[in-house]
Amino acid sequence: MISFSNVTKAFGQHVVLNELDFTVAPGEKVSIIGPSGSGKTTILRILMTLESPTSGQVRVDGDELWNLRAGQKPRETAAMRRTRSRIGMVFQQFNLFPHMTALENVIEAPVHVQGKPKAEATSSAMELLEMVGLSEHARKRPGQLSGGQQQRVAIARAMALQPRVMLFDEPTSALDPELVGGVLNVIRDLAHSTDMTMLLVTHEMRFAQEISDRVVMFDHGAAIEDGPPSQIFGNPTQERTRQFLHAVL
Ligand code: ADP
Repeated sequence: MISFSNVTKAFGQHVVLNELDFTVAPGEKVSIIGPSGSGKTTILRILMTLESPTSGQVRVDGDELWNLRAGQKPRETAAMRRTRSRIGMVFQQFNLFPHMTALENVIEAPVHVQGKPKAEATSSAMELLEMVGLSEHARKRPGQLSGGQQQRVAIARAMALQPRVMLFDEPTSALDPELVGGVLNVIRDLAHSTDMTMLLVTHEMRFAQEISDRVVMFDHGAAIEDGPPSQIFGNPTQERTRQFLHAVL
């Protein structure tokens, strides 16, 4: 479903991804862990076309999203537009439209991007808001909701285009501790109840262990260890993974 082949990303002299090879199979739930600055978010941003690689190839669901030689300028392609409609992303800072209600946030893309009739989009959106436990708050604006509730609206919004891939970028890191559990419950339900491919950048190690088919440890722009949670958390092969887990657990 997702493949990075020989992908390098540099910001000026700073190499953030270094000849990265990394794949995710259809339906797989993969967590990316690793120290701050190791390139985890950059991977998600390249998939969302919010960032272009410096060189290398990225494929999503059979489409070539990026194929760049060093020095080659990226350009907008039909594959990018197709891919954007197949991927949903949940950001650290929710990124909801502040002037719209929860319901309006969720129906925005189906109505304005996909051209769905408003009544149909509204009925699907209410089901999604119900799924994230917020149907009673559908008419509230983000400012009237807690951070955890806002993040659950953001998950419903990302789901509204029925994406084949969901990306989560540290979805609970901006939340007060008591609100983390509710958001993790929603993500856990999605992981267990859908065949969507899920890629999650997280510092919630226990959660990663519980929901992932695979965990990938990043360090300095490379995937240094990749395996089932039992290996990564129980018996890591790399000293750097041991050190990292020792520091965060
Ligand atoms: P992580 O998610 O693992 O914390 P990121 O992918 O966010 O790491 O960032 C990797 C490195 O790239 C960091 O050192 C960050 O400062 C740098 N970086 C990210 N975005 C930019 C940018 N737009 N310009 C310059 N440097 C950036």
